[in-house]
Amino acid sequence: MNKKIAHSSLNEGIEISNPSRYMTITYTVSLSFIAVLSLLVHLMLDKVISEQDESGHFINVSGQQRMLSQRASLFTLDYIYSGNKESRELATESLKKLKDNHAFLLNAHYESLASTNNSVLSDEMLSLYFDEPFRVSQKVATFESMVNNALINRENYSKAGAVEPEFVGLAKDSLLAGFNAVVYQYEREGNQQVARLRTVQSVVLVIVVLTLIVEAFFIFRPMVNKVSTYASKLQKEANYDALSGLLNRRAFNAIAQQFFMASRRYKAPLSVIMLDIDFFKRINDTYGHDTGDLAIKWISNMLTDSMRESDCVARIGGEEFVVLLPNTENRGALQTAEKIRSSVASSIFEIKGNEIPITISLGVSSADEEDHHVEAVIKRADTALYESKSSGRNKVSLFAH
Ligand code: GH3
Ligand code: MG
Ligand code: MG
Repeated sequence: MNKKIAHSSLNEGIEISNPSRYMTITYTVSLSFIAVLSLLVHLMLDKVISEQDESGHFINVSGQQRMLSQRASLFTLDYIYSGNKESRELATESLKKLKDNHAFLLNAHYESLASTNNSVLSDEMLSLYFDEPFRVSQKVATFESMVNNALINRENYSKAGAVEPEFVGLAKDSLLAGFNAVVYQYEREGNQQVARLRTVQSVVLVIVVLTLIVEAFFIFRPMVNKVSTYASKLQKEANYDALSGLLNRRAFNAIAQQFFMASRRYKAPLSVIMLDIDFFKRINDTYGHDTGDLAIKWISNMLTDSMRESDCVARIGGEEFVVLLPNTENRGALQTAEKIRSSVASSIFEIKGNEIPITISLGVSSADEEDHHVEAVIKRADTALYESKSSGRNKVSLFAH
C-alpha cells in the first residue's frame, strides 16, 4: 500500500461539510423568489383594483347623464312656459353638470389622443360617442346649444305654443338612448375587467402553488436531506472514533453503565477486558506515525471480528481498547481475552513490505455485588492489564481480589 492511499484511507469519514452556507443560499433564493412573486401579484392586483374603482366611477357618472339631460330639458320647458326663474337656474345648473360630466368622461380620451395618438376608450365606446347611430358627443353639443338657446330666447318658444321644442325630443329619444348605450357599455367593460381579475387571480394561485411545490421538491426536500445527513454524521462523529470506527470513550462509558445497570437488575454476570498494544512507541518510531495508525486500525478490525454481536468494543486511548462482555463471567471473559491475545500474536501485520509482529497485553475483571458503577470494574481490569505488562507483556491477567 503506498503512502498516499494509506493517508487518504485514514481520513475517510472524518470530513463533515457544514450545510449552513448551502442552507442560507437556498433559503435566500427560495424566499426571494416568493418575495418577488408576492410583489408582482401585489402590483398586478393593485392595478386591476384601481382600474375597477375607476370603472365604477365612470358607470356612475355616465348614469347621471340620463337624469341630468331629463332635468335640463324639463326645467327649461317649464321656464319657457312659466318664466319661472328658479326653473331657469335649475336648468342651467343641470346643463352645466351634464357638460362637466361629459368633459370628464372624454377627458382621458382627448389627453391620450394628444400624447400617443391612441384613445384609452375601447372601439365600441368610441363608436357610441362619435359614430352613427348614437353620436352621443355630437348630440350632447346639439342638446346643449338648443337648451342654451331656449334659455336665452325664451320668447321664440313661448310664441310657438303647442309645438314641442326640439331639445325635448332629443332628450327623450336619441340622447337618452345614447346615454343608455354608454352606461351599458361601461358596465360591460367593468364586467370584463372583473372576469380578467378572476383569471389573473386563478393564474396567480396556480403560479404560487406550483412555486411552492417546486420549492418543496427541489429546494426544501434536498435541504432537509442535507441537514439530516449532516446531523447523523455529527452524531456518528460524537460517538465513534474516526480512525478505528469503534465507539469512543464517552459513548462507551454511557453504554457500559447501561449494561452494568441491566446486569444488576437481572442478576446477570458482566465482564470487562482492557487491552493495550505492547511497545507501540517502537512501531511509531521505526515505521512512522501513519503506520502506527494503520496498526491501530488492524487491531480494531481483529477485535471486532473476534467479538460477539452483543459485546461492546471501544477505543478509549491511543492504543488502548476496552471490551464489555454482558452475560459473561470471569472464566468466559478470560477465554475470550486469551483468544484475542493469541490471534493477535499469531497474526502478522504487513505494511509496505514489512512484516511487523504485534502483541497485546490484556486485563480482565468481572462485576461484583459491591460495585455501584461500571467504572470500578473497568479500573480493576486496568489494574490487571498493568499486571500483564509488568509480568512480561503478551499476557492475559485476571484481577485477583
Ligand atoms: P507498553 O508496552 O508499555 O504499552 O509500551 P508502549 O510503547 O505501547 O507505551 P504506551 O502505551 O505508553 O505508548 C502509547 C504510544 O502510542 C504513545 C503515543 O505516541 C502513541 N499513540 C497514541 N495515540 C496514537 C495514535 O492515534 N496514533 C499513533 N500512531 N500513535 C499513537
Ligand atoms: Mg502500549
Ligand atoms: Mg498505552
